[in-house]
Amino acid sequence: MISENLKTSAFILRCFSYSESDLIVTFYSNDFGKVQGIAKGAKKSKKRFVNVFEPFSLTKIIFSRKKPDSLAFINSCEIIDHYCDIREDLEKTLTASYFTDLTDHFSPEGKVNKKIFELLNNFLLLLSEEKVTEATLRFFEMRLLKLAGFEPALDHCVRCKAPVTNGESYYFYPREGGIKCAACAEPERYEQPISTGTVRTLLLGKEMDINKIKMVSLSGASATECRSILIGFITHVLGREIKSLKVMEQVRNMCL
Ligand SMILES: [Zn+2]
Repeated sequence: MISENLKTSAFILRCFSYSESDLIVTFYSNDFGKVQGIAKGAKKSKKRFVNVFEPFSLTKIIFSRKKPDSLAFINSCEIIDHYCDIREDLEKTLTASYFTDLTDHFSPEGKVNKKIFELLNNFLLLLSEEKVTEATLRFFEMRLLKLAGFEPALDHCVRCKAPVTNGESYYFYPREGGIKCAACAEPERYEQPISTGTVRTLLLGKEMDINKIKMVSLSGASATECRSILIGFITHVLGREIKSLKVMEQVRNMCL
């Protein structure tokens, strides 16, 4: 039995050709979490689906399906926001693609999480209006990890549980999901300590009002440390590198 028509707002995560005329589309919806569906005839139909399945577009989708875990049949898809301001700028486009890619990687199908939908919404609006900064990237990662249930422990040493203290050095252990104080870490000579300032910045970025992110300037050592913690952790959790991150960083390095 096919379900009634289900209606939701959704961000397009990715889309690929399935046959001569059909597309398989993965979207992150407000009401049903991540859903994979087929848009029959989408490559031929000029009326029903015109350029609607581009990554990170916000859409209104109507679909039906047999069971919650079966492939959805996409009946219609309309654009709510195409984010033209983002698409006019290569760096912003690659950043938005990275955000949707990361959301895709951290979202099991069918698990509803309205806060993740809201996170994407807020950060795409931020990208529309402001320049891409290190803080935008790292705070998105930090918040997504938290909402997806993979928040690294950064406010205390994972071994002795002592809270982060100013002036101390810390070491990050992706496998153990957090930082250790110098006494517990027994660092090798090549390991780089992380400053308390970096740890505090990431903790702050997790909760900070979205409108204040543009005022945060992460630079030099702090930017390097933040990236090393978060990307190291994300790569460890996912068990692989993220291609869209590499592409985005290559372009950012060329532009800077
Ligand atoms: Zn310790």
